[in-house]
Amino acid sequence: MTTREQLNRYRAKRDFGVTGEPSGERRGSREQGRFVIQHHAARSDHFDFRLQVDGVLVSWAVPKGPSTDPRDKRMARRTEDHPLDYDTFEGVIPAGQYGGGTVQVWDRGNYRNRTEHRGEPIEAADAIERGHLSFWLDGHKLHGGWALTRIRGGDDETWLLVKRAGEGADARRRPTHTQPESVLTGRTMKQIDKDERPGD
Ligand code: MN
Repeated sequence: MTTREQLNRYRAKRDFGVTGEPSGERRGSREQGRFVIQHHAARSDHFDFRLQVDGVLVSWAVPKGPSTDPRDKRMARRTEDHPLDYDTFEGVIPAGQYGGGTVQVWDRGNYRNRTEHRGEPIEAADAIERGHLSFWLDGHKLHGGWALTRIRGGDDETWLLVKRAGEGADARRRPTHTQPESVLTGRTMKQIDKDERPGD
């Protein structure tokens, strides 16, 4: 599947004449490595976790957001792949549009795929296909190892996002609550909404 085909579902849901989100016309390289976590106050509040794999951002919606406590299993619903330049999108998607609501760049940085299969490293795309991805995050707020594991396939693909013990693990930390600002602009969700609500 080419990057262009991968983004068909993303584009079909959106009217780029109305929403300020990127259309993905700027093509990505095959370089690996970026991640972004966007706080998205849509119909329900959630965190969108996105990892760059082969020129797109493979995406999951995590209702409770990431945890730094290895005992927490955070449900993550797979959503459509997003274009690479979505990793700096922050603003307000107009009401009535797909995903209408406020989007904030809550954390971003680089990740390294660390998945092994039978003792050998495998590529991120293969790992996702197989349903288990182990990776290392170097973000502004999040550091260390996490894993994503698919627990249900089909149309409503469901995964669990779990912190690995070791570096960055801390059962007392609640970064989604104690560090609510954008790593891109320093703004809170409320400030983004106030600054960028269309029609104001
Ligand atoms: Mn979302």
